[in-house]
Amino acid sequence: MDLDFDRQHIWHPYTSTLNPLPCYPVIRADGVHIYLESGEELVDGMSSWWAAVHGYNHPALNIAAHQQVEHFAHVMFGGLTHAPAIDLCKKLISMTCDSLQHVFLADSGSVAVEVSLKMAMQYWHARGEKRAKFLTLRDGYHGDTFAAMSVTDPDNSMHSLYKGFLPQHIFANSPQSGFWQPWDPKDLDDFHSKLKQHHHDIAAVILEPIIQGAGGMRIYHPEFLRGVRELCDKYGVLLILDEIATGFGRTGKLFAYQHANIEPDILCLGKALTGGYMTLSATLTSSHVANTVCGGQAGCFMHGPTYMANPLACAVATASMELLETNQWQQQTQQIEQCFADLLPQLAEHPRVNEVRWLGAIGVVEVTSAVNMEIIQQHFVEQGVWIRPFGKLIYMMPPYISQPKHIEKLVNAIETALNKPECFVA
Ligand code: PMP
Repeated sequence: MDLDFDRQHIWHPYTSTLNPLPCYPVIRADGVHIYLESGEELVDGMSSWWAAVHGYNHPALNIAAHQQVEHFAHVMFGGLTHAPAIDLCKKLISMTCDSLQHVFLADSGSVAVEVSLKMAMQYWHARGEKRAKFLTLRDGYHGDTFAAMSVTDPDNSMHSLYKGFLPQHIFANSPQSGFWQPWDPKDLDDFHSKLKQHHHDIAAVILEPIIQGAGGMRIYHPEFLRGVRELCDKYGVLLILDEIATGFGRTGKLFAYQHANIEPDILCLGKALTGGYMTLSATLTSSHVANTVCGGQAGCFMHGPTYMANPLACAVATASMELLETNQWQQQTQQIEQCFADLLPQLAEHPRVNEVRWLGAIGVVEVTSAVNMEIIQQHFVEQGVWIRPFGKLIYMMPPYISQPKHIEKLVNAIETALNKPECFVA
């Protein structure tokens, strides 16, 4: 592979063009394994950023893609429709809570978030109210586009860099009570007071249910989410849940909002929707919200991406949903959770570890100093695993098909890294 060309011309995420971090060339991926050109077989601990929940090169997903490409790869969605979109939306409506009856398909998670924010704004516009603010949480992450960035943690996402471009929204303190810890009702105080103070201007609350992912891998108490829902109802504000990372079983429930027995007004889905095959997102909402939006002055929702409802992506997504049903994601994620519960507490004893936490198929080792990405990445590859930490967070989100021996290998690789000072910034 022409790695010199890659280094000189291709932008990879979160690395410099001046002195890019090394990239490992992949030639094949199958099941839980990623195969490098250099011959290494790596046990995948990332599901390619939460997406490849069934593992790689899955026969059922391959068949769905092949069959669809024989019919048509894409047609515009304006004025046309097709079975792949209809089949997928039927599935999504039946899997999610009863109130969510309308699906907007788009290209990526960030776009799903944009769509959800626009929906909320148009909802209030249609009701004759000008509400232009969103209330969200510190430590959150909602994507890389401008509106998504504007509701992402102001420090993590470097709002200061985009000052003047980013709309100013309202950030409440993130919950401190962990998922497995006792609930402290004071966690809601700041959120409550900000909602009380600004609710006439707030179109919606947006947050990641139960786990704040890329903003800090924080797994929080379901009571917080329940409280947020109650307060949104009390103050008449819409609730958008960003389940792009958590949806489709990752937290041990099909959707993370089920841990709190609540329902959102708008739900964003992405990532695992296509089992990691291609980019697709869905924003679901209630008939009340959809019909209010469309009953307003505009008469419709003002969004329509070129690749909306891409048939290839929809066909693979439907096959991925069918796999979820037959693959027993619940037993799979329970087994992974049990492995984390057995293996992670002993890492917590290590002086370099600040905290370990886990839920469903998510395991997190928070260390006391930031990782040296280049060295730790090399260490993981030498150990035969693929784990991509950020900052002080070494985390695992393995494919659901991972067996205990795979999880052990991932955790062992983290443990050996902890004993190598060069893997961390001093
Ligand atoms: N929301 C959440 C919670 C996410 O984790 C991500 C991706 N990490 C996004 C939105 C953005 O999704 P995408 O990268 O597909 O645009």
